[in-house]
Amino acid sequence: MKPYALIINGRRVETEHHLEVRNPADGSVVGLMPVATEAALNAAVAAASAAFSDWAAMPDAERQALCNKVADIIEAHSEELAQLLTLEQGKPLGGLGSRFELGGAVAWTRATAGLSLPVEVLQDTPEGRVELHRKPIGVVGSITPWNWPVMIACWHLIPALRAGNTVVNKPSSLTPLSTIRMVELMNQVLPPGVMNVVTGAGGLGGSLAAHPGVSKVVFTGSTPVGKKVMEAAAGTLKRLTLELGGNDAGIVLPGTDPAAIAEGLFWGAFINNGQTCAALKRLYVHESVHDAVCDALVAYASNIPVGDGRLETSVLGPVQNENQLNLVRELVEDAKANGGKVLLGGNPGNGPGYFYPITLVSNVDNGVRLVDEEQFGPALPIIKYSSVDEVIARANASPFGLGGSVWSSDIEAAKAVAKRLECGSVWINKHGAIQPNAPFGGVKQSGIGVEFGVDGLKEFTTIQTLLV
Ligand code: NAD
Repeated sequence: MKPYALIINGRRVETEHHLEVRNPADGSVVGLMPVATEAALNAAVAAASAAFSDWAAMPDAERQALCNKVADIIEAHSEELAQLLTLEQGKPLGGLGSRFELGGAVAWTRATAGLSLPVEVLQDTPEGRVELHRKPIGVVGSITPWNWPVMIACWHLIPALRAGNTVVNKPSSLTPLSTIRMVELMNQVLPPGVMNVVTGAGGLGGSLAAHPGVSKVVFTGSTPVGKKVMEAAAGTLKRLTLELGGNDAGIVLPGTDPAAIAEGLFWGAFINNGQTCAALKRLYVHESVHDAVCDALVAYASNIPVGDGRLETSVLGPVQNENQLNLVRELVEDAKANGGKVLLGGNPGNGPGYFYPITLVSNVDNGVRLVDEEQFGPALPIIKYSSVDEVIARANASPFGLGGSVWSSDIEAAKAVAKRLECGSVWINKHGAIQPNAPFGGVKQSGIGVEFGVDGLKEFTTIQTLLV
């Protein structure tokens, strides 16, 4: 099996050591990930530093054209990348799986390429002229997770490049191969050193976050690791964007038709097997419609085939890794022990593969771990409530604040509840439907800063004020 290599300064860089990357559907080895030494990390940062001044000085239209070429080359190889993504991540090729993720990666890349940050004139009077210029920051360190590795990489890399920065990316060692291949392709159109990728275990992410040659870190991952990244970045006061964990609440208001919302609720919660930052992770349903919503969800979920992602018949795949599988198992067992009623699933087999059935658990409330913690897997707690004021308080009783949703046929009533939720995005009659022109980010311990659109692009710049 041919080992993958780091991509530094436009070239493949072989490493002495490798780690096996395994398919979560059956444990088979998919490829060998290069393990970078600190010296290799230093070389990547040095290459990005050396490439920075020319890239930053390039006329904006040229950089924009190159970002569009990046979109073209990802699109031209999207089936190859989707196949690789399914092998290492486990998600199905079809449906809302790998091909969908590649489609998102291309769409976000094009949308971001189309953005610009013209000079703003804040004052132009006889007393003087004040201009606000947006300048690139320098070398950006990007650290990405295993759930949507290719699309999230594009969320980091493309705005960083578009704004004139150069990048060193470190993907998760659970799903590194599709990102390495994508960066290799990007290097066919970008100047050497502008886009580099390093992989490794045992602290490489921390070293990147602390590296004195890196001026900004963009990190997507869990809240505990996000805090470590913030500490590591403090030494040189790096700029930070942190997209962290969530425990999104969905609230179904009285008078809502269960049949009309069951499909949307299901996919809000179970997209990517629940392994999505802004998935619906706790569902609060008014007592007047609670049983009917549970029945509609069970009916919809019962028809979803779960299987090996390589099979076109699979609609959901395995959980990505053993730790995540064990967490889901533990939280569901804890809910059962605390009076939870399993409406569907809850009975995993013994492998092979990290499969866990689609699971719906009712008769639980705040205070039970499955409700309070981020499960990040295919198990949804359903909580009955009677008062809207009280349910808003329960939804907000969380250290997280990524997304939320309100479900109702009365849009004005839903909007009134939505405005009272403490989270960065709120959806009405859908959940987690992100789009490239809508800023996305968390409040409270779900993160710092936003991604997407002009607001997301600005995070990859510093302001220089010019006073004439
Ligand atoms: P994780 O925090 O375990 O890992 C994320 C990345 O950080 C990986 O590349 C990992 O190797 C690296 N890393 C690990 N320790 C590090 C350290 N000390 N310093 C620097 N980097 C380090 O997260 P995960 O398990 O890959 O992803 C799941 C989590 O990510 C969930 O909590 C999910 O909600 C969150 N997430 C958030 C968003 C968002 O946009 N808010 C999107 C996707 C996932």
